[in-house]
Amino acid sequence: MKLSRLVEGIQLSVTLALDARAKRLAAEGRDVINMAVGEPDFPAPEAVQDAATARVQSGDVRYTPAAGAPFLREAIAAHLTETRGVDYAPENVAVCHSCKHALSGVLLATVEPGDEVLIPLPAWVSYFELVRIAGGVPVEIPPAAGCRPDLDALARAVTPRTRVLMVNSPCNPSGYVLTHAETEALARLAVEHDLTLISDEIYRRLVYEGEPAKSPVSVGPDARARTAIVDGASKAFAMTGYRIGFAAGPPELAAAVTRLHSQMTGSPNTVSQAAYAAALREEPPEVETMRREFAERREILLAGLEGLGLETPRPRGAFYVFPNVAPLLDERGSVGFCEDLLEEQNLAIVPGSAFGMDAHVRLSYSLPKDLIQAALSRLEAFVLARRPSS
Ligand code: PLP
Repeated sequence: MKLSRLVEGIQLSVTLALDARAKRLAAEGRDVINMAVGEPDFPAPEAVQDAATARVQSGDVRYTPAAGAPFLREAIAAHLTETRGVDYAPENVAVCHSCKHALSGVLLATVEPGDEVLIPLPAWVSYFELVRIAGGVPVEIPPAAGCRPDLDALARAVTPRTRVLMVNSPCNPSGYVLTHAETEALARLAVEHDLTLISDEIYRRLVYEGEPAKSPVSVGPDARARTAIVDGASKAFAMTGYRIGFAAGPPELAAAVTRLHSQMTGSPNTVSQAAYAAALREEPPEVETMRREFAERREILLAGLEGLGLETPRPRGAFYVFPNVAPLLDERGSVGFCEDLLEEQNLAIVPGSAFGMDAHVRLSYSLPKDLIQAALSRLEAFVLARRPSS
């Protein structure tokens, strides 16, 4: 079949492909440790499971409005008002099938063909492709020291075609959390150049030290007026398979995303909407238990990587580390490194090239501590065999 140029150019998500490969090898009997995962290894909270079950059993599982069920839009607006310190109403919210769906909706609603979208590196794999699908041109901005956004470089990269700036704090893959000063500077940049700011806040609850993540919407009315928050249930509530999220911004943006989705996907999953509303309403205690467990695992992994002499930016949030492995790479770069590691040590991790930084690799700590220790032993054997002898 003849396929469109649009889809011919789209790459399969590297992280999803790797995760699938690791699972396939494990199913074939290989003793694979999978650190390529991008989802919490915890069950969804009990309140979430109960709400989902109750909704199914009630029989009330028909379509909801395309913008989302009123009860969920209200719950999201109340949650945003409380956590971001700025008033939100249901009209500001478009419920989506996931955060990824919210991102694509906002990009399609704001980007004209050829518009430039600034993406500070490292950045989550899907940003680049989603911008292209929307007809935009992703402009990748290399980071400053410590894998943090380079504010000066971002300002220098603005051209008359620049339309959108994407921020993600806490960040996948490097785990940085923008300082409040950085958030303010990025918001100022967007205001000064009349850019739309897309703030991906999917890891907002998973911060382990220092000040909490600040949303650009709380910087001031000018910033708020041009910011689209995208967020969802996947990471904070361990609800990845429920596929539910939202985009929130000015009412005209929420309405535009809704118009788009009313044609493309229709109303979000009714059962998942009930489950997400329960999560937001009840703030289940399991979330804090999960956060603490991630915090402890992060320390184990960081100590292990330090012991191996791998330079690793200290992550404050999310559940990934992003060490620099440049001295250990051959001409195949981070992809070759990860292929060999999987082949030789049965350890699955993600090449940094997927996030725009080939000198790095991403390891997820969404797995139990004993497996993290075992993974570190495998990584050590691999690194020792590779390290050029001095
Ligand atoms: N944004 C970032 C930065 C992510 O890492 C992910 C998932 O890995 C998503 C969005 C997508 O979340 P969802 O499962 O809601 O589509």
